[in-house]
Formats: sequence, C-alpha cells, structure tokens
Amino acid sequence: MKLSIHRVAKCYAHDVWALNDFQLDIGPGILGLLGPNGAGKSTLMRILATITRPTRGHVTWDGIELATYPDRLRTVLGYLPQDFGVYPNLNAIEFLEYLAAIRGVDRRTTRQRIPALLELFNLTDVCRRPLGGYSGGMKQRVGIAQALLNDPRLLIVDEPTAGLDPEERVRIRNLLSELSSQRVVILSTHIVSDVEAVAANLAIMAKGRLLIHGSLDALLQPVVGKVWETVVASAQLEEARKNRLVSGCTRRADGVRLRIVAEASPGPGAEQVFPTLEDAYLYYLADQRESTPASAGTGSIPPQPRRDEDSTAHSLSAASNSR
Ligand code: ADP
Repeated sequence: MKLSIHRVAKCYAHDVWALNDFQLDIGPGILGLLGPNGAGKSTLMRILATITRPTRGHVTWDGIELATYPDRLRTVLGYLPQDFGVYPNLNAIEFLEYLAAIRGVDRRTTRQRIPALLELFNLTDVCRRPLGGYSGGMKQRVGIAQALLNDPRLLIVDEPTAGLDPEERVRIRNLLSELSSQRVVILSTHIVSDVEAVAANLAIMAKGRLLIHGSLDALLQPVVGKVWETVVASAQLEEARKNRLVSGCTRRADGVRLRIVAEASPGPGAEQVFPTLEDAYLYYLADQRESTPASAGTGSIPPQPRRDEDSTAHSLSAASNSR
C-alpha cells in the first residue's frame, strides 16, 4: 500500500496555482496534512481521490498511475470531502444503503457492513432518525461511515472536524486512529491538535507547496532551542504580537505569559522551552513567508517586573511542560 505523488501541480482558471511541484510518498498509518486555509489541501485531496486531474505531474497507487487507471484506486478508496452533504429526509440506514448501491457494493456486504459501521460510530440508537435532525458531529460520523462502506485501503478525510465541538473532535480523531491499521489514512486539517496525537507522519504545506514531511520528532527537532517563554505586561502584548512570532499567550495576575518562537532569546528573563507541534507549525509557516522567526522580531521584550515572592513567575518551564 503506497501512494506516490510525483511533482504534482494544479492550475485553476485565471492562473491560480493551487499546487506546485508537490512530491510525497505515503504509506500505511495516518498522515496528518496540515496547512492554513488556501494552502491547497482540498485540491490535493481531490486529485488523490481521482475527482480532478493534476495539470502537471502524476500520482501512483502501488505503482499504477491514477490518471490512466482511476478505477484501480476507486475500488479501494474511501473519501470524505470537505463539503460533504447528507439527504435530510433519509435516515442513516437508508442513506448508507443508497450510497452503497451507487458504488456497487453487493447487497450481502451492505447488509453486514452497515450495522457494524453504525455500531463503530455510535449511531445505532439514532439510525432510524432523519439525518436532517443530526448534529454536525453525528453527520461527520455518518460521513466517515459512508467512506468505509467498501472497506477501503486508502481513506481520505478532508477537514473532518471543521465546525465541531472539542468532544466530537476528540471522538473523530480516536475513530480515525482505530481505522488506521492496515490502511493508508490521509487526514487534512488546519487544526494542529487534530493531528498531533494521532498522526504517525505529518506533512505541512502552504501556498501549494510541501514545506516539510516526517514524524513528529523530526518536525520538532529543527525548532529545539528556538522556543521561549517570558512574562510581559498586558500593555506590551500587542507590540509583542506585532514584532514576534507568538505561539501562545496566557493571562496571569502579573501580566501575560508568552510563548515565542525565535532563533535567539527574546529578552532577559525569557526561558527556553521544548517545542510543541503548534510552535513548529508556526516556525515553518513563518519560514516559508520569508519572515523567519529570527527576523520576525529585532528588539527584545523587557521582562515584566516580578512581584516579590511571586512563585508563578519562576515556574515558566514547568508550566510550559504541562501545556
Ligand atoms: P485548502 O483546502 O488548503 O483551503 P484549496 O485547495 O481549497 O486549499 O485552495 C487552494 C487555492 O486554490 C486557493 O487559492 C483557492 O482559492 C483556489 N481554488 C480552489 N478550488 C478552486 C476552483 N475550483 N477554481 C479556482 N480556484 C480554486
């Protein structure tokens, strides 16, 4: 099971290049594809799902080229598009039966798989209610269930947690994690926490290009020694945000505790902390904008004067570890 993307580029009308020279090999497990809105994630997902074709380059599945033999992939593909819609008057069983029929899944398999999927996605109790009355999270669970009707080897889910509350996001993440053994799963999102815990591999993209790809550790490594915590007065927050790459900010009694990504210490009193994926994500995006963390700020931020015996001001490293 190997999906290979060879120097893929996609140009829409009016010379909009949504993808440029994108190259990546993807194997079993979850790949978390991270990028800001407009980065080209959905375009890439649509190309991989054989819905649209690249302008240049090609994609292969186990060595077979998708553009020439799209059906070879379609039989083993499950896809949840970003703009997935349901028929509000159908219930979950009717909807899944309908999609199974369209995709040519045989009746015996359909009869076996639908109850199992409803159970897996915790939808059995509500499966006879019209989908129009489902919450956003329930609809997304139906969306992932429909992508699994044919027990796919390649599962592509595009922004599956958009608009969901934190509890549903965790639930969707856990489900994808369960589904990732014996499959290639591609999870695209602009939310770092969606992929941090579940993705064995991560790819960060922006402006149609792949910025970096690797394990969480590999992505964090270049950022080690470049993340700092410091406390500033509330009045200095805006200036810090303007001049620095601020990846976190917590208000406290004596000011604001900032997490800053920078090549060098942002000022006296700043303490070095271990990077998170959120820090690394900002670092790579800033680098790509040619506004590296080092050049994002030149002046140093004066530390907020500590109150006597203020124990919280001494515990930045410990606090950062619990973040
Ligand atoms: P993402 O999923 O990361 O938000 P998209 O792939 O949706 O990114 O979009 C990448 C770029 O391509 C954006 O500039 C977007 O406006 C443009 N784009 C996407 N789809 C179309 C389309 N059908 N026609 C023209 N431009 C498009």
